[in-house]
Amino acid sequence: MSTVTCRHCGLPFRVRRVEPGRDYFCCTGCSLLARVPTDAQGNFPVNAPLISALTVAFLYFNQLLAWAVSVLVAREGKLSLSNRLGWAAAGAALIVWVAVAVLQAKSGASRAKDMLVAVVTLALLVASIRTLPPSGSLCAAANAVFIAWSFRGALRRRASADVRPR
Ligand SMILES: [Zn+2]
Repeated sequence: MSTVTCRHCGLPFRVRRVEPGRDYFCCTGCSLLARVPTDAQGNFPVNAPLISALTVAFLYFNQLLAWAVSVLVAREGKLSLSNRLGWAAAGAALIVWVAVAVLQAKSGASRAKDMLVAVVTLALLVASIRTLPPSGSLCAAANAVFIAWSFRGALRRRASADVRPR
């Protein structure tokens, strides 16, 4: 095992083998952000990595929206509509998971821990859908963990951007 540092956030981590000339990223988020360059004015191009990140955010937003509306209409006694929305939220949850998994696989930053978190969150998703009706809160939690984990370096970067020069 050798230690490399994430090209985007600077976090050191260990890899099995260092390939010369290759850029290493600690997570999917750093790999994506590194491919969305920001210029001196803070502008960035609308490119494929940015669009794929925004697509995940949009899908997750729809998952949460369907779940929230299903809870609201259940309170009004519209149980069959609530049930359908609950299933829509569960379907959206699976799509979000697949989208994040694809992003991870394509980022080249996926390592053993990422695989583990992917498997655990998928198991949690399947378990929360099997509660019949699906548990919207558990589905939301599972994907929140998966997304936050995949983009953890991006969050760290924001927290330390003031102290660490680019
Ligand atoms: Zn990083």
